[in-house]
Amino acid sequence: MEVDNLLYDKDCTCPICKNQFTTKKVRTRSLRIENREDDFNVIYKNINPNYYYIWVCPKCGYSSTEKEFENINKNQATILQQSIGVKWNERSFSGVRTFHEAEESYKMALLVAQILKKSKAYIGGICLRLAWLYREAKSPREEEFLNYTLNFFQNAYQTERLDAAGLDEVSLAYLNGELNRRLGRQREAIKWYSVALDHPDIKTKRHIQLKAREQWRLAREQYGHEKDGAN
Ligand SMILES: [Zn+2]
Repeated sequence: MEVDNLLYDKDCTCPICKNQFTTKKVRTRSLRIENREDDFNVIYKNINPNYYYIWVCPKCGYSSTEKEFENINKNQATILQQSIGVKWNERSFSGVRTFHEAEESYKMALLVAQILKKSKAYIGGICLRLAWLYREAKSPREEEFLNYTLNFFQNAYQTERLDAAGLDEVSLAYLNGELNRRLGRQREAIKWYSVALDHPDIKTKRHIQLKAREQWRLAREQYGHEKDGAN
């Protein structure tokens, strides 16, 4: 199926400059799963929905996830107009996006999130999706952005209320384990899988429980090899 047929136009109004524009959204019913990766990345046939995860106002550059798009007050709007609004060269992200346009949309969203001092869980979530884009493109920047993600998520676990970011503690602890494991830090990984497995809510998350046990064993094995190699 053509990429165009998997997408439709959604009407948006920018909460900063009131400009009206459209952005592509994926018809979720037409999605076919190809693979699920252990850090929650889902790969679909023919399309990568993450290309369209960030909404970008073509007129002022305001960029955010759909869920957070309207979540902005007057004061923040003024700050954004004075920072990114004056430097932004008008350009549209409303069509079918190339890899570079998708990458650019995430970078704008990160810039906006940092100016607005958004939660670490939110910023980490954007870094993780950008890392997945780099993984698909086989770019070495994947590792760089997995590292950023992990810094934000480990911090978020200690200091933030997670429900606001659409995350729960068990999934985030598991994910911190998985990101550490991918980055070759097996000892840290084992610690975080255990945090997930010892969490009082783990009983309500059966699939995470099974996954965390499996990955805990894998990390133990990899850690054993590391130690053998060092001797
Ligand atoms: Zn705007």
